[in-house]
Amino acid sequence: MRPEVLFQLFHSVTTLKGVGPRVAELIAKAAGQNVIDLCLNLPTGVIDRSYHPKIAMAEHGRIATLDIEVLEHRYGHGRSPTRVKASDGTGAIDLVFFHARKEWLNKQLPVGEKRVISGHLEKFKDRLQISHPDYIIVPGEEKELPNYEPVYPMTAGLAPKTLRKAVREALTKTPDLPEWLDRSLLEKHKWPSWKAALTAAHAPKNLGDLEPSAPPRERLAYDEILANQLALALIRQRRVHLKGRALTLPNEKLSTALDALPFKLTNGQFVALSEILGDMKSGRRMQRLLQGDVGSGKTVVAFLACLAVIEAGAQATLMAPTDVLARQHGRTLQMLGEKIGIRVAVLTGRDKGKSREATLIALLAGEIDLLIGTHALFQNSVNFKDLALIVVDEQHRFGVDQRMALSAKGLAPHMLAMTATPIPRTLMLTAYGDMDHIAIPEKPPGRQTIKTTVTPLGRIEDVIDGIGRALGRGERVYWICPLVEESEVSDLAAAEARSESLRAHFGDQVALAHGQMKAHERDSAMARFASGEARLLVATTVVEVGVDVPEATIIVIEHAERFGLAQLHQLRGRVGRGEKQSFCLLLRADRISEAAKQRLLAVSSTDDGFKIAEEDLRLRGAGEVLGTRQSGLPQFRIANLDTQSDLVAIARRDVDLIIAKDPELKSSRAQALRTLLYLFERDAAARYARVG
Ligand code: ADP
Ligand code: MG
Repeated sequence: MRPEVLFQLFHSVTTLKGVGPRVAELIAKAAGQNVIDLCLNLPTGVIDRSYHPKIAMAEHGRIATLDIEVLEHRYGHGRSPTRVKASDGTGAIDLVFFHARKEWLNKQLPVGEKRVISGHLEKFKDRLQISHPDYIIVPGEEKELPNYEPVYPMTAGLAPKTLRKAVREALTKTPDLPEWLDRSLLEKHKWPSWKAALTAAHAPKNLGDLEPSAPPRERLAYDEILANQLALALIRQRRVHLKGRALTLPNEKLSTALDALPFKLTNGQFVALSEILGDMKSGRRMQRLLQGDVGSGKTVVAFLACLAVIEAGAQATLMAPTDVLARQHGRTLQMLGEKIGIRVAVLTGRDKGKSREATLIALLAGEIDLLIGTHALFQNSVNFKDLALIVVDEQHRFGVDQRMALSAKGLAPHMLAMTATPIPRTLMLTAYGDMDHIAIPEKPPGRQTIKTTVTPLGRIEDVIDGIGRALGRGERVYWICPLVEESEVSDLAAAEARSESLRAHFGDQVALAHGQMKAHERDSAMARFASGEARLLVATTVVEVGVDVPEATIIVIEHAERFGLAQLHQLRGRVGRGEKQSFCLLLRADRISEAAKQRLLAVSSTDDGFKIAEEDLRLRGAGEVLGTRQSGLPQFRIANLDTQSDLVAIARRDVDLIIAKDPELKSSRAQALRTLLYLFERDAAARYARVG
């Protein structure tokens, strides 16, 4: 349960003085519905009211606070405003009001009385003026007027003053909390205590105080990251205790399969496979992410893992993000399966009627050992006899919910997620921190790096000549057509037009595949290309993910500037899969944005998926890279993963130490850490800590 010290923070904002239901609704939009939400909603700006000159000396164009005496009200006529003439003995100023009511003015600024006012000082026709001062204060009550005023992101309908006041109230409800951070860490970074940090973060005095590196803000960001890391570690730790099926894995079929493969596994593949088999034997439930750059050979590792499960008498399933990819996996694995005596079937949204029915029946009867498919696998009608392993290919294309839905189809099935999208370390730690990881670090031997060049579209004729020569040598070529924004139709038109013009050069060697085609037509185009009947495949991004034709040596990407960095890398990964030197030609328009230039430069200067991912992260930011929602990437309110990845690394180390010393979180520091988890609403993880 949430510790009592935090109760007040988790009450609704309506418990704050001056916050009624209407304001609460607006605050909920701006920050959240509880007191804590207001506390964690940090200012993004600051107004400095400390400039307090005599009028004669005052500089216009900035916020000023002035002591004045009201001299006269001059009411406006029609559309002209009311002017309140005032002075401080050294000079004169007009206070300007549009649509001000007389009574109100008389009350706020009575003639002959002194006031302290604050607002933006302007010059209008040689006169100093302030329109609608932000503050009009009776002398003696200056404490109402802050020298520095935090500015919060705006929500329509919510007056800044109201929000500020609510935040102030909220801050009075914050308790002193026991320190959860190490003293040495606090000293090293000059971080204040949590409460002091929170108070200071809401009281910036200059732009420097708003920087993420300002100690109070940095501490709060670290707290948030630490809560995230600790929660993930606890979930991971608990999973270690979660029972999975301990599969006894005979190795006969596995050895047969290894012999039947046309190549030897790379060391990386071998290590990954042993880890995976180890997981599945252990009696714990496997949740593993298998990472490997495009072309590193993840599929065969997954297949061998499936095989082990099948040999143990259970079923396995492999889920791919696209129909094209599912069918390709189907073809490869059916071929392998036949040699070894296992039954492989494919099920996608395209399978309907009798054949679908037959597959479903066979699946339930246990007559299918390995089912390969797409999202269609989630459907309720898909039932296994005994599902023990789920493989998710291109994992980042699926959400957590989808993985869970599949999990429910077996008895605590093991889960192997695969991704070629290299995930930078920071993201790995924060988004997939609850999974075990293994990476295949190398590509199969004999692969050459792909030569990548950027060429202006104006030289397309030269490119076509070059392709002609390659086709003459019997090589195969992809030609990727540009994405046209938000219009699949024009996408299609571009691909069709391009395939026509290339057909004029190369005749029947050209095949066309795009997303709008009937599935079987697309399949047959891809199959003709795979078999070598067609040698030039014009395609939209349907080939982006996972398509494998080792004979292809050239990929041309038209209007490469319209593609994302990761996408370009994925596309390029379609070549360089055999032993011949491969080429990637990025055709670019003449005028392209600076960001696009940087992307093209990044892809052409390195072949290393991790470097590209880091660059992608730098150019686009964390949320964009993985698609926040899909990837289950946590939303941080204070921390910024793009700029504070160093804090993630520190937190990770911190957490490892904490857990190593005190796995059940029993010490007094651990009690404080548990409070931290509740503070950032990691309740589930906090409860795990209690159970141990
Ligand atoms: P990815 O990791 O991108 O999914 P794939 O599994 O599609 O890669 O494999 C890429 C290509 O490399 C395939 O043609 C596959 O048959 C081949 N391959 C896989 N492992 C090896 C290996 N150890 N030696 C040689 N070729 C391999
Ligand atoms: Mg793949």
